Amino acid sequence: MRIALLGSNGQVGSALLARLPRAWSVVPLARRDADLLVPGAAAAAIARIRPDVIVNAAAWTAVDKAETEATRAYRVNSEAVRELAAAGADWLISYSTDYVFDGRKAGAYREDDATAPLNVYGWSKLGGEQAIAENGGKSLIFRTSWVHTPGHANFVTTILRLAAERESLNVVDDQIGAPTSAGLIADTTVEALKRISEGRPIEAGTYHLAASGATSWFHYAQFILQCAEEAGHTLPCAIHPVSASQYGQAAMRPANSQLDTTKLEAALGADFPSWQEGVRQTVAQSINPAVLDTVSLRQGHG
Ligand code: NDP
Repeated sequence: MRIALLGSNGQVGSALLARLPRAWSVVPLARRDADLLVPGAAAAAIARIRPDVIVNAAAWTAVDKAETEATRAYRVNSEAVRELAAAGADWLISYSTDYVFDGRKAGAYREDDATAPLNVYGWSKLGGEQAIAENGGKSLIFRTSWVHTPGHANFVTTILRLAAERESLNVVDDQIGAPTSAGLIADTTVEALKRISEGRPIEAGTYHLAASGATSWFHYAQFILQCAEEAGHTLPCAIHPVSASQYGQAAMRPANSQLDTTKLEAALGADFPSWQEGVRQTVAQSINPAVLDTVSLRQGHG
């Protein structure tokens, strides 16, 4: 099976690259190979590669920056995805977000719940979902949440860095969701790809893919420090809960980001692990000093 993997340097993309079976022909596409800000670049890259499956792990993921750079966010998250959907591969796998919802639901969101994004990023990702649906080809859209993995800028690595630099941190306590490891997303994607390669794919459509359970950013931050301590790396930093409105980010975010993953777990016969399991692993790998150095460097240039 021939796979074109866009966003191969990102959190999910690099986790995928490390896991895709060597028997498949995988063509990683970084920004230099196909800049999704350039109209036609995605379509041209796919025409050149002629893959059986496109896996699109590329996205504009700067949520706050999208508020002031909406045109660019839409270009990458909606219009480039439209090009990929029309590029003629047998299957397209793409990722979307909990931020397509407004967070007002009491329980976890199901795939068919009404979407109503609160921010530009959420609208741009929803535009990508709609472009795929309008094309009508065979596709899987995996909506996920709060992604983390070692060696990349994300909540885990940011909290570890800031807790080493500061005596106290304010963290939002009135938004809940499930921190999800890029490894879980990649493992699940590989399983879906195996079924495609064996001619017994799961039904095309949208699925929620997240670790089980839920927490607030505040409790998540406390858990990160607890895991660091368990791994022998005590960070004496006080974490204080604040409301989202006190914290004041440019983009509004949903208060409830919980995704109901029943549909995907049933389709794959899987049982997604707790969010704590994934975070414990990311923290343990991140506090290896070599990895931590890389993270600080990346963030310093970010
Ligand atoms: P990352 O930000 O880690 O990676 C995004 C990738 O997209 C990077 O490789 C980046 O390239 C690439 N990219 C960005 N702009 C362009 C461009 N103009 N042309 C080509 N490539 C580009 O994202 P994640 O791995 O965290 O996210 C994977 C998917 O999951 C995305 O669809 C995202 O929307 C979704 N998601 C992510 C969440 C999160 O918390 N991160 C939460 C919910 C959903 P480069 O390395 O050059 O910057």
